[in-house]
Amino acid sequence: MTPPAAPNSAAARDIAYALHPYTDQKAHAENGPLIMTRGKGVRVFDDSGREYIETVAGLWCAALGFDNERLVAAATEQMRKLPFYHGFTSRSHEPLIELSEMLVQRAPVPMSKAFFANSGSEANDSAIKMIWYYNNAIGRPQKKKIISRMKAYHGVTLASASLTGLPANHKLFDLPIAGILHTACPHHYRFAHEGESEEDFATRLATELETLILAEGPDTVAAMFAEPIMGAGGVLLPPRGYFPKIQAVLKKYDVLLVADEVICGFGRTGNYWGSQTLDVQPDILTCAKALSASFLPISGVLVNEKVFQGISEGSATVGTWGHGFTYSGHPVPAAVAIETLKIYDEIDILGHVRRVGPHMQKALRDAFADHPLVGEVRGTGMIAAIELSADKAKKTPFDPAKKAAARLVKLGEENGLILRMLPGDAIAFSPPLIMEEGEVDDMVARFGKALDALSVQLRREGLA
Ligand code: PMP
Repeated sequence: MTPPAAPNSAAARDIAYALHPYTDQKAHAENGPLIMTRGKGVRVFDDSGREYIETVAGLWCAALGFDNERLVAAATEQMRKLPFYHGFTSRSHEPLIELSEMLVQRAPVPMSKAFFANSGSEANDSAIKMIWYYNNAIGRPQKKKIISRMKAYHGVTLASASLTGLPANHKLFDLPIAGILHTACPHHYRFAHEGESEEDFATRLATELETLILAEGPDTVAAMFAEPIMGAGGVLLPPRGYFPKIQAVLKKYDVLLVADEVICGFGRTGNYWGSQTLDVQPDILTCAKALSASFLPISGVLVNEKVFQGISEGSATVGTWGHGFTYSGHPVPAAVAIETLKIYDEIDILGHVRRVGPHMQKALRDAFADHPLVGEVRGTGMIAAIELSADKAKKTPFDPAKKAAARLVKLGEENGLILRMLPGDAIAFSPPLIMEEGEVDDMVARFGKALDALSVQLRREGLA
């Protein structure tokens, strides 16, 4: 039990005044916050000076780590020059223009235009509104339903939380909204039938998707959203051949595909986009997080020419495109994003991930694949997860009441690691992309100590 926070301390003031996102408020009031004060490279330091390796780059986002003078300079310079302007009613400014151009030029498939928002959730909500407006504009007002997948994570605003396929984001918030459908999660380890090959599993999922579209009526289904690799749902890689098979179904029924690249974008999987790694050809692409290395909030939506033309027609057919945020393309985060993309090019971030990523994947597998508490080690590039299992051979999950992964997060802290727990007792690894091999080895060694400490605890309780 943590000692009570001293009166007037930062911890006491936090408990008194802050409502934390994704936090058990009661437990927080008892245990208090973990307060970070500074960062350096792949490490962060708390208010007692303790150092931690950030194994998940904050929230899968601080791709360049926790200090970067060039990004500080880019923000400062832009604040001095033009601290705010917007893009409504044909107004524009240099950072908005340059970032739009850079993103369209870097897209994994031909894209036509870029739109900006402040978060991944807003980007996905904006994409939904684009799709609905597009179908209204081209005279298909009934084609509106959106398909997502179980265990998907697309955000927490009303529409993006509806896309998200995790129970905690739905039931307690009276979601999903109408017209959002969920199809099966493509995780072979958990959901394939006994003896089913990856190809056969992918074929079955494509058939299930087609059955869903036919049951709903193809004229009512507008789009499907998909993360190339599902992140917050568990770092779930699709089975071989999945996206080509899924996309054939979508094409057949004129259903648009939106790639949510909020985690996978900008090198995480070893290519610039997860879409390239997983063979995805989206009509719309959303991105955020590493777009600005998370030094400032900004997200983007890229649309192809077909969708843009539909939206463009809308002014004449249904009325002007009435969507945008005060801060869509805000010049300061846009300037930071431009500098971030330049840094990725200059330091050859793809070359780096292609070197360090395989090292990280091998190190995790070598150290933990045979560990008695580990069911599956999965991942590619610099994204991975370790799923705990109470019975390795039978793939039995731990009783949720044992809070195995939550305990591991705590033990990680004691061993100098910030860990992120995922549904199904998995632990994510998605460190800053700049992490070097030696730091990977350090991270893996510290995780090994935490995992061994968990084994000792569980053995004592007769659970392992
Ligand atoms: N999409 C994906 C794939 C994400 O991982 C996230 C956030 N983790 C979001 C969307 C939502 O982004 P935000 O939290 O910036 O709204």
